[in-house]
Amino acid sequence: MLLAVLAVLLFGLWKRAGNRGGQQYAEPFRIAGDLYFVGANDVSAFLITGPEGHVLIDGGYPGTAPMIIASINALGFDIRDVKVLLNSEHHFDHAGGLAELQRASGAALWASEASADAIARGGDHADLPLPVRALMWARILSYPPPRVDHRFRDGDTVRVGPVALRAHVTAGHTRGCTSWSFAVREGERELQVVSACSLVVLGVGRYAEQGADFERTFRELRAIPADIWVTSHGRLWGRYRKFVARDSVADPVEAFIDPAGYRAYVDSGEARFRRGVVQ
Ligand SMILES: [Zn+2]
Repeated sequence: MLLAVLAVLLFGLWKRAGNRGGQQYAEPFRIAGDLYFVGANDVSAFLITGPEGHVLIDGGYPGTAPMIIASINALGFDIRDVKVLLNSEHHFDHAGGLAELQRASGAALWASEASADAIARGGDHADLPLPVRALMWARILSYPPPRVDHRFRDGDTVRVGPVALRAHVTAGHTRGCTSWSFAVREGERELQVVSACSLVVLGVGRYAEQGADFERTFRELRAIPADIWVTSHGRLWGRYRKFVARDSVADPVEAFIDPAGYRAYVDSGEARFRRGVVQ
């Protein structure tokens, strides 16, 4: 009896930990123009605001959604003004909070054709290693399924009034992995922003076209101009380093202008792929 109680207790704790993914609230901030960071300490989420409504990229873990909503509030915006939800990839740590964000905002969710079914199911088991799949079957790593309202193709543009983001299906990490490019206006300057998808090569459960997809993805990402770049994990784009660096430059936006960092991100992703480094 005691063992059963203990097991239930541990399962509950484990599930809660999985929902949060160890994420902590992180102070939100403006990156440039109408682009804001609203993610947690590692998993990213980005808000792009506009006069006819806002766009939100990524939902973090299920447990990250309340942090994202709190961050949007803290910046003086309202989750109910988010009209479009976008996503970089269907995995638990970036799509897990979408259902709650959709409930709170009423926003339409756009997903790439190759991600839509996985997201609408609350995760995809097929391309993950067996132990991870087991956690999904136990409903520890699946997530509340959001409603997918629209499907886009590579090269499509998603708009909310003057806010326009171009979808680049940069597959490899997942089949539908999507990078987003858009412009922000900072004073007199127009800055090009890229939200790049993960370049981590998942070894077990890799799909047949993964190699060809990655080859195309490296070419595609290199062809996108980037003054500012971000990606779905803060540690990879230097969220905290750049956030702190704002205090030591005359114009805080300068801390985020990093075309060399973007090239290095793509180069290191490609180098790992060529060396056969899988995770
Ligand atoms: Zn992933």
